[in-house]
Amino acid sequence: MEKKKQAWIQSLQSVSEDLSEVEEPPSEPPGSGNSDPPAPRRSRPARPRPSARFPLNEKTNAFRRKYFPGVTVSQWNDWHWQVQNRLRTATALSRVLDLSQDERAALQRSSSRFPAAVTPYYASLLDGEDPLQPLRRSVIPVLDEFVPSPGEADDPLGEDHDSPVPGLVHRYPDRVLFLVTGFCSTYCRYCTRSRMVGHKGGHAGKKQWEKALAYIQETPSVRDVLISGGDPLTLSDDALEWLLQRLRAIRHVEFVRIGTKVPAVLPQRITGALVRLLRRHHPLWMSLHFTHPDELTPEARTACARLADAGIPLGSQTVLLKGINDDAATLKALYHGLLRCRVRPYYLYQCDPISGSAHFRTTVAKGLEIMEGLRGHTTGYAVPTYVIDAPGGGGKIPLLPDYAQGADGQDLVLRNYENRTFRYPGAFDRPSPAPSEPAPYRMAN
Ligand SMILES: *Cc1c(COP(=O)(O)O)cnc(C)c1O
Ligand code: SF4
Repeated sequence: MEKKKQAWIQSLQSVSEDLSEVEEPPSEPPGSGNSDPPAPRRSRPARPRPSARFPLNEKTNAFRRKYFPGVTVSQWNDWHWQVQNRLRTATALSRVLDLSQDERAALQRSSSRFPAAVTPYYASLLDGEDPLQPLRRSVIPVLDEFVPSPGEADDPLGEDHDSPVPGLVHRYPDRVLFLVTGFCSTYCRYCTRSRMVGHKGGHAGKKQWEKALAYIQETPSVRDVLISGGDPLTLSDDALEWLLQRLRAIRHVEFVRIGTKVPAVLPQRITGALVRLLRRHHPLWMSLHFTHPDELTPEARTACARLADAGIPLGSQTVLLKGINDDAATLKALYHGLLRCRVRPYYLYQCDPISGSAHFRTTVAKGLEIMEGLRGHTTGYAVPTYVIDAPGGGGKIPLLPDYAQGADGQDLVLRNYENRTFRYPGAFDRPSPAPSEPAPYRMAN
């Protein structure tokens, strides 16, 4: 057991040393740990391997046949194969997309700054002809990425400042953000952590994990650990098991959550073995990163169903992105789709002012307008909290349309989703300031 642990830890270490060159995920060798052992030879038909039972939507299957003709369905459904065959260069991507000049030039430049990578599966969801298709814009770089705007920064949330040890952000009193890897299977061009994601040195090695675990162990106020990255679900099963076991062994850690985009970009990762592993570490919660309803394919829905069936409460996080999902109809479709997958929309983020993100950022007025378009108009569970993660490290601050209009005498004046006015009596113990003065009262959530 100890030997095995050493082996993966070593593979993890070697990855952390030359991530920029090899860019391999910290995982066990291909084919291992992903599925059940090969079925024994028998005369009657063998039980299909779990990977073969994974769905393959029609569009994706046509893409596989066209661009990966020698690749079998079970290879395609093996997450290791997906990771190893990611499309990362202009040459690779131009095989499957008609790249614009802008995209081509950006791909040639981005390798040094924030690399590009798209799993073959996610590439199958991209529109080959239209560079403005939402999913394509979210993962294929354009030259606007290299244009800095005032107020932008590489670490706008000041995460490095709040890190007592590298890879651990302790901003709120009772919870920490544990950045366990700098690796993602697919890189979102608007990533808040592009400073540490996909780069050499951005990857947490075992030594760094030990320091973070020691800090959590020594800090009894930490009752909630959020494992993020990078994408934690790109770690091998062994690595995840090790991490979860270590966290679980800390008495004051009441619950653990994992933030991941894997169900959207690498749904094949959600294997039977993975969910069996995860369910051993309850209470475990998950926040799934989804951007657009087009991501809710049969594959992604199956991934969510497996996680939900394992008893993991699922929330979603979405970044509000100009021209990608910045209208109420698109987000409503996404949120309705997520509820059907048993995923509760958790946060809608105003896009962080990360360097070169101006082309993705909307106004706050737009975000508030979208929130107005949701609340009351659809299921309350489909309405996330709209937040700005305050630049400089103030944490998440919720924003709400002004439903509380102010005080009139002891009444609170409210307006509903249809813009009709209502009063709530006795909201204040003493008469409020004269109506001519703007009332200072604002209701948070
Ligand atoms: C988002 C975040 C958390 C978790 O916040 P919740 O509102 O509890 O989901 C914790 N720490 C940091 C640094 C974060 O950015
Ligand atoms: S999945 Fe998350 S960490 Fe990875 S590139 Fe996208 S936003 Fe960044």
